[in-house]
Amino acid sequence: MPVKTSCPYCGVGCGVIADRDASGAVTVRGDPLHPANFGRLCAKGSALAETIGLEGRLLAPVVNGQETSWDTALDHVAEGFARIVREHGPDSVAFYVSGQILTEDYYVINKLAKGFIGTANIDTNSRLCMASSVAGHKRAFGSDTVPGCYEDLETADLLVLVGSNAAWCHPILYQRMVAAKANNPACRIVVIDPRRTATCDGADLHLPLRSGSDSVLFNGLLAHLASSNAIDRAFVDESTTGAEAALQQVAGQTVAQTADICGLAEGAVALFFDWFAKTERVVTLYSQGVNQSSSGVDKVNAIINCHLLTGRIGRPGMGPFSLTGQPNAMGGREVGGLANQLAAHMEIENPRHRDIVQRFWQSPIIADKQGLKAVDMFDAIADQRIKAVWIMSTNPVVSLPDADRVRRALDACELVVVSDCMRHTDTTRHAHVLLPALTWGEKDGTVTNSERRISRQRRFLPAPGAARADWQTVCDVAQRMGFSGFDYPNAAAIFREHARLSSFENEGTRDFDLSALNTLDDRAYDALTPIQWPVTREYPTGTPRMFETGQFFTPDRKARFVPVTPRAAVNATSRDYPLVLNTGRVRDQWHTMTRTGKSPRLLAHVFEPYAEFHPDDARMAGVENGGLARLTSPWGEMVARVVVTAEQRRGCVFVPMHWNGEYAGDGRVNALVNPATDPISGQPESKHTPVKAAAY
Ligand code: SF4
Repeated sequence: MPVKTSCPYCGVGCGVIADRDASGAVTVRGDPLHPANFGRLCAKGSALAETIGLEGRLLAPVVNGQETSWDTALDHVAEGFARIVREHGPDSVAFYVSGQILTEDYYVINKLAKGFIGTANIDTNSRLCMASSVAGHKRAFGSDTVPGCYEDLETADLLVLVGSNAAWCHPILYQRMVAAKANNPACRIVVIDPRRTATCDGADLHLPLRSGSDSVLFNGLLAHLASSNAIDRAFVDESTTGAEAALQQVAGQTVAQTADICGLAEGAVALFFDWFAKTERVVTLYSQGVNQSSSGVDKVNAIINCHLLTGRIGRPGMGPFSLTGQPNAMGGREVGGLANQLAAHMEIENPRHRDIVQRFWQSPIIADKQGLKAVDMFDAIADQRIKAVWIMSTNPVVSLPDADRVRRALDACELVVVSDCMRHTDTTRHAHVLLPALTWGEKDGTVTNSERRISRQRRFLPAPGAARADWQTVCDVAQRMGFSGFDYPNAAAIFREHARLSSFENEGTRDFDLSALNTLDDRAYDALTPIQWPVTREYPTGTPRMFETGQFFTPDRKARFVPVTPRAAVNATSRDYPLVLNTGRVRDQWHTMTRTGKSPRLLAHVFEPYAEFHPDDARMAGVENGGLARLTSPWGEMVARVVVTAEQRRGCVFVPMHWNGEYAGDGRVNALVNPATDPISGQPESKHTPVKAAAY
């Protein structure tokens, strides 16, 4: 019987139809009716059936290296957390979760941490993905709202991709853009990225800007828009505040100055500015190249400023558009799964919001200040301020910056609990307790993609061994700790509560609202078709586009311009470390390869860690194409295969982020990555670490 579900990889959120025959063999194909992909799947999605085998799976709870029963493991976790909280206070424990888990899992673990234990020390690997966009949205719109939808990409006449290799990282969305361009001769694509990537193949213009100079470029664009009469005066006057200050900030910035600072040809910058100024339907898509920066929030606002000045937001074919990396980065934001959020897009530092959430949960306590964001959380574990951590569906020993410090932190931690579907990862190796989790095909719940679209992930495989849903594990621990409010019969009941909270005492002051879904019965939840929030009585079939009325979620309902002063990366290159390390994805792998690494077909694309050098840099470093290089930063080192290519910007080295210790020994690039973060979003600066290279 075919089952409609959704892909567990990137934030495009493609619909998948999975079929399991009588012999147990599984096939997958794209869901032709899913509005994200209309039947298409990329290489990763197409290979899903090859990654569901049980080899390497964690199939039983493990305590101190010994397989044990669920009762023993749950008692151990509950007693350990309760004792440490009793002895050292709520902030002595932490939770580090993932954009891979389902909204229902996310909801209950956030509820346990903030509403019952009383700590906001719950953060997620989405901190590495889109935390800067969240903060930029909130500063500009008063809410963490992605304004548009995928259809806008197909009605735009100019698509600007900033810091995004969408051809590899959001492949189906990229294919939609390329198809839209083929159907609309007026459509142009501009790619802004220090590297020439596969995404540039379909572009009319590539601006290989100096690493980190995005704010300068968009400040220059803002100045150009003002001087070329591209201002939508009515929109600016009626729907925004702060335009004068933002324009004053960029006054006098010329195209020539912009080009010089960004390391670009003046003619190319002038052409981009001219296209932007003269094209009404513009969508600016941005991803990790913008977000993963110590000034990522400012970069986001520099982009949004240009859309506010031209009034290009809230209408078809236009708007700033944050591409989320993970399948449920957006769902995690909805439930408040970041250390600086409350549930349902409420604010932890707002006493009224805390009161609403606490009364709704009928909880004994509510965290009243922000918790530690990912990098700071692991620093606190290293310093033993945090004595117990529960890590869920993520592999921070591979994926966090300064990854060797993360490893040492876990070694120093009194109690490390890891919920995962895999037995052996770089992180499970440091766990005192391992809790076996269901994975894609086995679990049941919802995810939200980059365009605010909630889709179901449905079960079509039996639970293997003793593996269980993460929400069930969290609820069992919560009940053992003596907390009520965690006796859900199924994922549907959690979703209903989540939807009820979104509309509880919400007088239209919050963007996230699922009031039309809060009474779904189990059958309706199971049959739920993809839908974009908010889903209200007024908009029962969802809301493709936000801000159509020119009203935002700030107190005066006006959007905010944010004047941006460009800042350099925290750690500059030097004579000792002359190259800028930039990390990212390859087309056919996902995160730390614990699943995609199982598919020979996917591994065949790129099977080992590599480092891309510009020919001049390769010569200077004495490394040769096809040879091996040792890359060293002040934080760590790795060995990688050398690829010499003129598509790399001079002075920069690109290394993919995926390889874990299982596949590549010491090929974990995040061991080198500096732990500098954005002061507002806490997102790490993964695109700018000074390194040196030498032949190995
Ligand atoms: Fe999955 Fe993303 Fe590929 Fe779609 S584009 S099939 S969501 S990895």
